[in-house]
Amino acid sequence: MLAERMKSIEGSGVRRMFDLIATMDRPINLSIGQAHYDAPEEVKAAAIRAIREGYNRYTVTEGMASLCAATLDRLEEDRGYRPEAILMTAGVSGGLLLSSMALLDPGDKVLLPDPYFVMYKNVLALAGAEAEYYDLYPAGPGRPWRPDLDQLRALIGPRTKAVLINSPGNPTGGVWPAEMLGELVALCREHGVWILSDEIYEHFVYDAPFASIVPEMRGYDRVLALGGFSKTYGIPGWRLGWAVGPEAVLEAMKILQQYTFVCAPSPLQHGALAALDVDMGARRDEYRAKRDLVHDRLAGRFDLVPSEGSFYAFPAYPRGWTEQEFVQACLEERVLVVPGSSFSRRDTHFRLSFAAEDDVLDAGLSVLCEIADRRR
Ligand code: PMP
Repeated sequence: MLAERMKSIEGSGVRRMFDLIATMDRPINLSIGQAHYDAPEEVKAAAIRAIREGYNRYTVTEGMASLCAATLDRLEEDRGYRPEAILMTAGVSGGLLLSSMALLDPGDKVLLPDPYFVMYKNVLALAGAEAEYYDLYPAGPGRPWRPDLDQLRALIGPRTKAVLINSPGNPTGGVWPAEMLGELVALCREHGVWILSDEIYEHFVYDAPFASIVPEMRGYDRVLALGGFSKTYGIPGWRLGWAVGPEAVLEAMKILQQYTFVCAPSPLQHGALAALDVDMGARRDEYRAKRDLVHDRLAGRFDLVPSEGSFYAFPAYPRGWTEQEFVQACLEERVLVVPGSSFSRRDTHFRLSFAAEDDVLDAGLSVLCEIADRRR
């Protein structure tokens, strides 16, 4: 009955977690992929005002001119380069679908990070493209989540069309330093390979300024960057993001948007415009403190690299535990974490989201330590 392509698409493990939570009494939920805070009042007020004032019709396909210009201004200000073209998308998810459909032919290969955000491989499958994986697992104890560019180079073949990068990363919390982005661009230029950069967690970087791929667009024209409003401003349900890069690709994505999403939600684009003026620095500081708490509490018992960004930590299961046993033990204590095999070809780690109130986080960390102690 169903189309053949459905055989290559998997239901998301994270969504399964949502279903499970709905059946639980007082869950300690450390599985959440969105900020724990609500949108700033002025952002909500701007969206409500827009609805009242009648901004309820379609916007132009690429998004409201004022929002496009303000987003480009912000990128130029923060990242030192103004991209050639922009499209407002239905979240980064919308941008991932449109960019894959615009760039990839069946049989093309795309190098994805492992661990990866679950949507990537499924979006590739929709485009008929194939995923290959470059490894991010730390090269040794205490080492960060980073690619080995020599390994990445060895994976590039005649059908390799693009490399996807995600910094700060979900689920690892790893961040690419600027020099490494430069090295990646040099490598991709050698082989004419595209770079697709998912920068949705740009705001959540704790130890160094955020290094974006955007400035690299100055010297290499096969670069697309995707970003959004969901995580930073606590508005994931608004479905708003942006894609920037070369005019020709953005134009193709815009044509595809005409027949799919049509436009990003119009009154909410007014809210996003207001959001660009809101300083979320205090939230970043709050999340840095949560990152520190996670690391301080788990470090003695779990093999764990401190998250450099995003709001996830990706610790290894303690010695003596399989994934199945550990996640089950957590569930019995009402603690929800996401098994690492949902994001990886390996099943050695789990994702813990620290986008939670401190008391919930604290309770969850105590349970994780108690479970680890059972087999010490
Ligand atoms: N990329 C990554 C790495 C994510 O974690 C998420 C959300 N979980 C998205 C993209 C999708 O974000 P959006 O709400 O903008 O579609």
